[in-house]
Amino acid sequence: MSTTPEYILALDLGTTGNRAILFNRDGNVVSQAYKELPQYYPHPGWLEHDGMEIWRDTREMTEKVLIDTDTKFSQVGAIGLTVQRETCLLWDKTTGKPFHKAIVWQDRRTTSLCNELTKQGKAEEIQEKTGLVLDAYFSATKLAWLLDWLKTEQPDVNMENVLAGTVDTWVLWNLTGGKVHATDRSNASRTMLMNLASGTWDLTLLDLFGIPSHIMPEIKPSMGEFGRTDLDLFGAEIPVTAIFGDQQAALFAHGCDRPGLLKCTYGTGCFLVAQAGTELTRSQSRLLSTVAWTTETETKYALEAAMFTTGACIQWLRDGLNLIQSAAETEALARQAGDNNGVYFVPALSGLGAPHWDMNARGSFQGITGGVKREHIVRSVLESIAYQVKEAVEAMNKDATNPVSLLKVDGGASKNDFLMQFQADVLGIPVERPAVQDATAQGAAFGAGLAIGFWESYDSVIAKREIDRTFTPGEGQTQAQEGFQVWLRAVERAKNWLVD
Ligand code: ADP
Repeated sequence: MSTTPEYILALDLGTTGNRAILFNRDGNVVSQAYKELPQYYPHPGWLEHDGMEIWRDTREMTEKVLIDTDTKFSQVGAIGLTVQRETCLLWDKTTGKPFHKAIVWQDRRTTSLCNELTKQGKAEEIQEKTGLVLDAYFSATKLAWLLDWLKTEQPDVNMENVLAGTVDTWVLWNLTGGKVHATDRSNASRTMLMNLASGTWDLTLLDLFGIPSHIMPEIKPSMGEFGRTDLDLFGAEIPVTAIFGDQQAALFAHGCDRPGLLKCTYGTGCFLVAQAGTELTRSQSRLLSTVAWTTETETKYALEAAMFTTGACIQWLRDGLNLIQSAAETEALARQAGDNNGVYFVPALSGLGAPHWDMNARGSFQGITGGVKREHIVRSVLESIAYQVKEAVEAMNKDATNPVSLLKVDGGASKNDFLMQFQADVLGIPVERPAVQDATAQGAAFGAGLAIGFWESYDSVIAKREIDRTFTPGEGQTQAQEGFQVWLRAVERAKNWLVD
């Protein structure tokens, strides 16, 4: 490269929206552009995204962040991609168009296929091979559904032209002008099709789900060159040098590179992820074993508690119930409420993940009486986010030698001071929020920058991170912890709501 690169571009392609962020050498955000992504709910429990909209917004946000900062694309040294995981789609490599909307990770349409596989006694084998609990959450059954749909709706389709991928693969393919069809191990580990020990597609599982291996992307290390952007897109050929699943990227940004370190991201869902080191670790309390990240020479594993709907419930208060105008408003309303007035919410809008793994659970409010007002409903929804994380931390503690003593947080909903204080109170341990709360994007940027030598070392770039605020358990502790016990009863009532 003739000029010294000034920035690293992170593309953070989340469930709620797509973001392009420029990071400077200090590891700080220079500028960002964000657009919310339309959510399509064709049936109860189904959720789709439009692949073309994801790609269009990725392109537009990249252009916007460059224009806003008067930056030439050639000033960008490398690109890091981090994406909502498990969401997947099929497209035609000759037209570049998806055959069907992408099926989002929260989508429950393949529950019956999972139940069928459980009846056939496949759950244990799947968990052994992939580290995952058999659930509609992961990509495998979604890809099987898409292929079935394709065979029925377009029986004459030439399968040689079909490509499959998660969002990273789709966007990478578009960024490289259709030249590179690849994914990284952290994303591949969430498809329920990758063998966790070997880091390759498991042919028995591809066969079980009826997925031809030729439609699957090549699996590559999370850090290293994936390909270069097509010259016609932004006027320069810039390498994509890191791809991470969103949760793994946040783990990387928090400096959690050794066993004992963990973080929780508060986005659409909440994801508590603990670094497990270079040994494949299995959980005794229904946590997922997954890949943290890989280089050419090393694989790091992680243990994860996935909670499906947390920030998504705030979106639902706004867009579904019209109870609030903005997510930020929930903080003042919760304080105004004073307490929850006996209301407990179970955020099982797409079933329950860790530690219950109940695809048939559905959301519920319990304890409603005549005096309940809008602010109590809002507060109960915020409290339920913290309660879910408390359950997940307890599950982690069962697996760990030392109990969790500090929670590092990030993500959209971690901006909410009420929620973070309530979280510290219910957990009884400090909650630490970094100055850059876009840890997901930051992790992708760090990975991409380190891969090209933009930063000297992982330790030096992590050392530059600053803490915004530490929330310590306070006077609300007793009330919050008593509330947690009541909430557990509400959870029991929301479980197994749907009958097969
Ligand atoms: P994702 O990466 O899953 O798209 P983000 O980390 O961008 O998610 O966070 C967006 C989520 O955070 C949304 O679900 C939104 O409702 C929630 N959120 C954003 N700000 C707040 C806030 N101040 N209080 C509570 N929730 C919030």
